[in-house]
Amino acid sequence: MTASSVHLSFEIFPPKTAAAADVLHAALADLAALQGRFLSITSGAGGGTPGASAEHAISLGALARMPARPHLTCVQGSRGEIEATVTAYLDHGITQFVALRGDSPAPDGRYHPRADGFTFPDALVAALKGWGAADVAVGAYPEVHPEAPDEAACLAYLQAKVDAGADRILTQYCFETDTILRWRDRVVAAGIDVPIGVGIMPIGHFPQIKRFSERCGAGVPDWLARRFAGLEPGSPEAHAVAVEIAAEQCARLVAGGMTHLHVYTLNKSALTLALVRALEAEPLAFRWAA
Ligand SMILES: Cc1cc2nc3c(=O)[nH]c(=O)nc-3n(C[C@H](O)[C@H](O)[C@H](O)COP(=O)(O)OP(=O)(O)OC[C@H]3O[C@@H](n4cnc5c(N)ncnc54)[C@H](O)[C@@H]3O)c2cc1C
Repeated sequence: MTASSVHLSFEIFPPKTAAAADVLHAALADLAALQGRFLSITSGAGGGTPGASAEHAISLGALARMPARPHLTCVQGSRGEIEATVTAYLDHGITQFVALRGDSPAPDGRYHPRADGFTFPDALVAALKGWGAADVAVGAYPEVHPEAPDEAACLAYLQAKVDAGADRILTQYCFETDTILRWRDRVVAAGIDVPIGVGIMPIGHFPQIKRFSERCGAGVPDWLARRFAGLEPGSPEAHAVAVEIAAEQCARLVAGGMTHLHVYTLNKSALTLALVRALEAEPLAFRWAA
């Protein structure tokens, strides 16, 4: 595996305020230098931020000089509403998507499929392909999705999405690199043979990421907490540790055969830029695949 066969993509979420939009736009201008394969844009995540309209997605992608890849979730609407959203995207030339179940907006936190909607993401994938989507990515969980009874079931749900036409997999972030590589081996052994983009979460603010990880079921190992112990979140020291940890993980993933790194930017560019520059520098000397 040569580092030059690795490629990058980035995830953002639609900003809720004008001030947040300014921060995102500045970050996207920075990301434009990084030759990412696509810019994925969440929908409904992080407390119900709606997805970007087709025009908005196009403009965000243009700022980052990457094709926009909107996320779609089963919970975001009826079949008809989702079809109308996708038709608008396709009419604007957006043909790549991420198809997800989404988390329940219900007060009990449990997932209740809509009677008029897609029950699970495999059905959404099949519909997207039928409507003309060129490339559909789906989510996957190296640490097992919190609602899956076990890993075998989690892999079976992934297999169903690939059987429905998914073109690639994007993983939830996971701080234990060995866990990701062992999971990848089980995915391959199960005969799931679409490309995998590994989610990378550079840690901009450790307490915030810890809280977020508890909600989404990503483990925060003790060694990670120890690395940030005593460091002021946002300080140059914490930033340096975050870059070192993420770069170390990316290097190990690539050495382990992973070829696509999908960076969760949280709409900021400083850590992502520092990570990419650290990977490009000696001794790693990554060169990105176009
Ligand atoms: C890369 C990535 C991007 C994300 N972006 C967003 C976003 O933009 N908006 C958002 O709201 N959330 C987002 N999420 C979070 C995601 O929506 C939640 O983790 C959700 O709980 C699972 O979605 P999924 O499509 O990965 O589901 P899956 O892992 O496919 O399924 C989740 C659970 O649903 C059940 N299930 C799934 N398929 C079946 C089936 N065929 N039969 C029976 N049961 C089944 C199982 O209990 C399973 O554990 C993202 C996650 C990832 C990894």
